[in-house]
Amino acid sequence: MAQLIDGKQISKEIKDELKTEVQKLKSEGKNVCLAVVQVGDDPASTVYVNNKKKACAYIGIESRSYELPESTSEEELTALVEELNEDDGVNGILVQLPLPSHIDEDRIIRTISPDKDVDGFHPVSVGRLWIGEKGFLSCTPAGIIQLLKRSNIEIAGKNCVIIGRSNIVGKPMAALLLRENGTVTITHSKTKDLQKITKTADILIVAIGKERFITSDYVKEGAVVIDVGMHRDSENHLCGDVDFRDVEPKVSAITPVPGGVGPMTIAMLMNNCVETVRC
Ligand code: NAP
Repeated sequence: MAQLIDGKQISKEIKDELKTEVQKLKSEGKNVCLAVVQVGDDPASTVYVNNKKKACAYIGIESRSYELPESTSEEELTALVEELNEDDGVNGILVQLPLPSHIDEDRIIRTISPDKDVDGFHPVSVGRLWIGEKGFLSCTPAGIIQLLKRSNIEIAGKNCVIIGRSNIVGKPMAALLLRENGTVTITHSKTKDLQKITKTADILIVAIGKERFITSDYVKEGAVVIDVGMHRDSENHLCGDVDFRDVEPKVSAITPVPGGVGPMTIAMLMNNCVETVRC
């Protein structure tokens, strides 16, 4: 039976470590404060924002909420972000994505000060990641590295194959695996003979955004499989990009959905918030 990589447990460990660290920082007079900005009332975004605020409360991070109407203009949102950039009481700024279609997301991401960019999406953070400089790491890929490390899965020298090349998962994942001395291949929708490549993977990271797409035919015996996908199937069950039942018997370790990668994203966001006040 495959080792189940327990993201729920590992994310709790990280949050508990952060809670202790935040208490110590407070005793030294250092407060950690995250500004959470939501535009509109998309129900999924509201759930994500509330989960982030709950995690802040658990750890002892102050969270300031900015709930703006759907009709907010790009100029108004830019002005708020600029104000938060200047506010010494705010350490991290999170603008919940997606934004309404009349707002240019890239422009807003670029407006956030790189020193407060706890999502790690600003081009400065991305550049720092690729050249190996200290900076904010994109939360989902950083969470995957923690899942592997804390499950005692070695990355150095391993063939790591990533399916997907998005800016929030695939690309930063590649940079982080490279940093850990993995041998990295990125695949995407134009890749020829995907199966042939994925079957070379010692570690397969799946961020394809297609329900239960990866079956046992795509994986090597004994591989480690990390499923980033998150879907609700026709029976309203949560599932990932990997067909868990088919793949699990063939592999040495695998993340479940839910309870795998998902909980790690918020834990790493919290870590980035604390990072803003670490020496
Ligand atoms: P995305 O932006 O939609 O990217 C999907 C990637 O998969 C693209 O690079 C695409 O290639 C590639 N792809 C699509 N069809 C393919 C095929 N047949 N063969 C090979 N590659 C193919 O998705 P994302 O934002 O990275 O997210 C991926 C999944 O992770 C989604 O299910 C999302 O909901 C989930 N997610 C979960 C978390 C979490 O915290 N758990 C966080 C982020 C995302 P092209 O570039 O060529 O189009």
